[in-house]
Amino acid sequence: MAHTPEEPTRYVCTGCQSVFAGTAHSENGSHSFEAPAECAACGASSFVEFAHWTHESASQS
Ligand SMILES: [Zn+2]
Repeated sequence: MAHTPEEPTRYVCTGCQSVFAGTAHSENGSHSFEAPAECAACGASSFVEFAHWTHESASQS
């Protein structure tokens, strides 16, 4: 079986909608990703996974 390269989870800042690549953490041979602690652009600390952003933003209008 070919190994599929992992794509980092991306996160959208709910304050300014900037997109950030998640920070990778190695755990027992696998990886997990975490959102940044704080948005570098606006300072907000609330992030939504990129894959969930469309649903999230649509539900707010
Ligand atoms: Zn922001």
